[in-house]
Amino acid sequence: MAGAQPRPDVLDSDDYFMAVASLAAKRSEDPKTQVGACIVNQEREIVAIGYNRMPNGCDGKLSWDTDKKSSDYKNLYVCHAELNAIMNKNNADVKGCTIYVTLFPCNECAKLIIQAGIKRVVYLSVKPGDRIDTKAAKKMLKLSGVKFDREPFRPEKMEIVITFPQQPITAPQQPDQQRGEEEGED
Ligand code: ZN
Repeated sequence: MAGAQPRPDVLDSDDYFMAVASLAAKRSEDPKTQVGACIVNQEREIVAIGYNRMPNGCDGKLSWDTDKKSSDYKNLYVCHAELNAIMNKNNADVKGCTIYVTLFPCNECAKLIIQAGIKRVVYLSVKPGDRIDTKAAKKMLKLSGVKFDREPFRPEKMEIVITFPQQPITAPQQPDQQRGEEEGED
């Protein structure tokens, strides 16, 4: 029977969660680094999404200055993607969850991940160089038993294209759409 088999090119779940994190990163206003996070529970349901942004009420009012000596230095203010995801979760807690992040967590976010009870980190990239914040993050995650792979995650599909319908949904139906409805397709 036609339609009895699952669609063969269905998006892999790890790819999907990393894609959600990557899409969230596109909301970031940081001109230099855009990071997204997606937290998934043991039932493989999304319970939180976040991206790096200024604290509530501060959007557009603070600088993205990268000068570490400046009182406008962005890292004095910005909330990282992991923090935003954990704080804005739509579940009671994120214990036992996996966090998908587009960039390996910094040491401060590693602390949050551990204290929130997240058990696994899947990451798409790491900041280059031998950074002490990455080293400290890895050290803490290991000591706390939070799993992460040695190498960054490699998606099965390296490109996911989303194309919105050209026509508004109120447009008159095409003949093939009408036929689909008559056959009871979903
Ligand atoms: Zn961080």
